[in-house]
Amino acid sequence: MKAIAVFPGQSGTVHLADLKKPSVNDVPNGRGVLVRILKVGVDGTDKEINAAEYGTAPDGHEFLVIGHEGFGQVEAVGPNVTEFKPGDYVVATVRRPGSSLYDKIGTYDMTTDNEYFERGISRLHGFLTEYYADDPEYIVKIPQGLKDVAVLLEPMTVVQKGIVQAYEIQRRLKVWRPRTAAVMGAGTIGLLATLVLRLRGIQVDTFARSPKPSRNAELIESLGAHYHATQQLPFLECAKECGPYDIIFEATGNSAVVFDAMQGLAKNGVLVLASVTGGDKTIEVPADRINLDFVLGNKVMVGTVNANREYFESGVRDMAQAQAEYPGWLPQLLTNPVQGLENFAELFNQLTGDRSAIKVYCEVAEAIAESQPVLETVTAA
Ligand code: BGC
Ligand code: ZN
Repeated sequence: MKAIAVFPGQSGTVHLADLKKPSVNDVPNGRGVLVRILKVGVDGTDKEINAAEYGTAPDGHEFLVIGHEGFGQVEAVGPNVTEFKPGDYVVATVRRPGSSLYDKIGTYDMTTDNEYFERGISRLHGFLTEYYADDPEYIVKIPQGLKDVAVLLEPMTVVQKGIVQAYEIQRRLKVWRPRTAAVMGAGTIGLLATLVLRLRGIQVDTFARSPKPSRNAELIESLGAHYHATQQLPFLECAKECGPYDIIFEATGNSAVVFDAMQGLAKNGVLVLASVTGGDKTIEVPADRINLDFVLGNKVMVGTVNANREYFESGVRDMAQAQAEYPGWLPQLLTNPVQGLENFAELFNQLTGDRSAIKVYCEVAEAIAESQPVLETVTAA
């Protein structure tokens, strides 16, 4: 079967590879789920892997199949699978357990291992291919009503983990009623973080560089959040009037923004860092002042990466709530579809070249025979 792969460590090597089709028997204990891939989203991580900034091939392979935002449909299940049936829509998690304590209790997103396993990123092939087989433990069912937007679930889980962890951390306060939030960045993650915070009833200011009008600014404002262009008014100036913020979600990909965000955080506030910054930027900051305010204000800063199945499940619930509360909003993020794995060059052109793109994704295949939920008619006695 076809697959989109790179040679990790060599820049610009994205190509079409050939892979053996997996089967349910590849998974031990009769627990295999064979999934036919329908859509796969791409993001900055795929761009950076193709730029050889990171990415590791599986043992015994020269290439790495990329793609970690996969959506598919179950084609077959092993004899001991009760969770799924052919036709079900599904999304698989990205990371697989290593050996630390956290991996052993299902929280593989919190691994303390230095070498970790992520499908499409590190040591495991990804989803930009035609099929995968995996254990039900790593597969989450998607309700029919979300099938058109489910390719957004994986980026949504990154946001879920950050926000759920922020609330967990704030249990230290006995009472925490966040009223104001700032989201740094208005890309896919910034948009989804704005959505999730709005669904929690929080007032949100979202900060991004470019001035209005733009599609992203309109999407932010249609959630009842405020869009601020930092090119026009720097964050710290704006935060003097609109802030400080009880929660800040940082997703710009620019590490310098973190130190501004620290200064816009309210007393007892929590700052969530979600940008994977592979570079080596250094900056000068007012360290004493930032530290003093953090200490005297009992503030928290937390890093967050990846997500385990808990966040895929809460992501599904939030996507359902979003479709009910802001109908038509999620589909607008699906801006750049590219047909077929063979069009990998076009997929990467759009990913690297279209600055107005929100989600670039590959339409790998069409869904087959819809699995309709069976509703039994209840007759009164
Ligand atoms: C993915 C995460 C992953 C992270 C670091 C992100 O793009 O969405 O699942 O953990 O990259 O590899
Ligand atoms: Zn990603």
